[in-house]
Amino acid sequence: KTGGKKETHKANFEIDLPGAEQGKVVTRFPPEPSGYLHIGHAKAAILNEYFAHNYNGKLIIRFDDTNPTKEKVEFQDSIIEDLKLLGVKGDKVTYSSDYFDLMYDLAVKMIKNGDAYCDDTPQEKMREERMVGDASVRRNRSVEENLKIFTEEMKNGTEEGLKNCLRAKIDYTALNKALRDPVIYRCNLTPHHRTGTKWKIYPTYDFCVPVVDAEEGITHSLRTNEYRDRNPQYQWIQKALGLRSVEIWDFGRVNFVRTLLSKRKLQWFVDKKLVPNWDDPRFPTIRGVSRRGMTVEGLRNFIIAQGPSKNIINLDWSLIWALNKKVIDPIAPRFVAVLADNVVPVKLLNGPAEPYKEEKPKHKKNPEVGVKNVIYSSNLLIDQEDADLVEGEEITFMDWGNVIISKVVKEGDVVKSIEANLHLEGDFRKTTKKITWLADTKDKVDVELVDFDHLITKDKLEEEDNFEDFLTPETEFRTKAIADLNIRDLKEGDIIQFERKGYYRVDVPYSEGKPAILFTVPDGKTVSKY
Ligand code: ATP
Ligand code: MG
Ligand code: MG
Repeated sequence: KTGGKKETHKANFEIDLPGAEQGKVVTRFPPEPSGYLHIGHAKAAILNEYFAHNYNGKLIIRFDDTNPTKEKVEFQDSIIEDLKLLGVKGDKVTYSSDYFDLMYDLAVKMIKNGDAYCDDTPQEKMREERMVGDASVRRNRSVEENLKIFTEEMKNGTEEGLKNCLRAKIDYTALNKALRDPVIYRCNLTPHHRTGTKWKIYPTYDFCVPVVDAEEGITHSLRTNEYRDRNPQYQWIQKALGLRSVEIWDFGRVNFVRTLLSKRKLQWFVDKKLVPNWDDPRFPTIRGVSRRGMTVEGLRNFIIAQGPSKNIINLDWSLIWALNKKVIDPIAPRFVAVLADNVVPVKLLNGPAEPYKEEKPKHKKNPEVGVKNVIYSSNLLIDQEDADLVEGEEITFMDWGNVIISKVVKEGDVVKSIEANLHLEGDFRKTTKKITWLADTKDKVDVELVDFDHLITKDKLEEEDNFEDFLTPETEFRTKAIADLNIRDLKEGDIIQFERKGYYRVDVPYSEGKPAILFTVPDGKTVSKY
């Protein structure tokens, strides 16, 4: 690890999983392969891992692949890679689809026990009966009839089968609507990305999770607490089937201001080409925030610091970026860039006759970051913003020395050029203006600096809001700049600081004739322009 003051982020919560024993805890992270992992999933994944490891237990990564309409191999592969990127290692990777035979047998068992029935009530009507607490007319079908429909019609996806679903016979009048005979199996003729066309019926989430959790020996099932109403249903299914009961442990979902965390909505942005892909730096996906300059350490520190809070929180991004800054600041090498727009040439009248190079530390407080080349020349460039100077004024050129301005050429308010004399015996502690400069030699490198805004203009979208009504009109801001020669050597993913400008992550490294593209890493201070 490279120097600086290394912060060790210990979890600020000491929480016990009820009934947990050292060496015996088994948790699982169950993503559906229907999109890329986002920062909310990261919370679930990291918490599951945290508990598994704290108790010396096991973590299972389980692909919850029970809906072929939404799932793809592409998503599955990306989830594996992103978990690796997050440093979340499962002891085992499993698939809900590994248990299709088992779940089928258990569904048949439920029918035989009189605990499930086939229902062809049209969806609308079923929803209405649920709302008011009416029984379905099919609720008292005989075991034989139910078996015939489930094992012959539904299983084969026949016309009759497609009209039916299988429902658990719990309590159609229950106060908790989740107990009003939930659907546990439904037909789907779409081929499944792992089991192909073998199955035409698929278990629902409500049936699959309690069965597979029990089967896999999960001891603690971590779920976001929007499922709390469904906990009794989960327990009912395990009990009805005589399965092991599993402890449910809820935690709060994370939400971020001006951010969508629904895979369906994120897919909409991709489909509408509002962003090129799921790894877009404006997306809250693991890939998106990584491209934006979030480090794994920053992300993990953030999640552990949040802890297992049960509140559904709407977090501000500045929190997480401020934590990330603590990680990158001690190790990000420092370079120089000036904005190309109205850049101001400075001539040092008594400067070096020829440009020369010197080795300097990349980070003044952390020598382990290494050294870079700095070119000194009589022809320099400075930012227009720094060029508001008057003749006779003494200022400091950072990491070089003082200069005295001798001539300022302006057109209107715009400074066109400056002449100055080096005054190296001057005291830099006595100047108020300390500015960055860049040697104007052929070694300098064109760069493009890109900053982004949130995709959404409203801090917190309500249930009744249509997110399409709150799209930020402009979310990408490109600025041309000129940087020092060291930028040629940077690789994709490198995080640096341009002195007095901020932190940047290299998205596209420099190649001859093409500018390097760097994304601004938010530092927790920037605010939306909208
Ligand atoms: P989405 O709404 O984005 O499709 P999901 O909950 O349907 O999310 P899953 O792939 O089923 O996505 O989620 C895997 C795990 O991640 C689940 O345990 C889920 O509860 C958890 N999870 C998803 N979103 C969040 C969030 N915003 N905060 C915390 N945990 C989350
Ligand atoms: Mg889900
Ligand atoms: Mg969801």
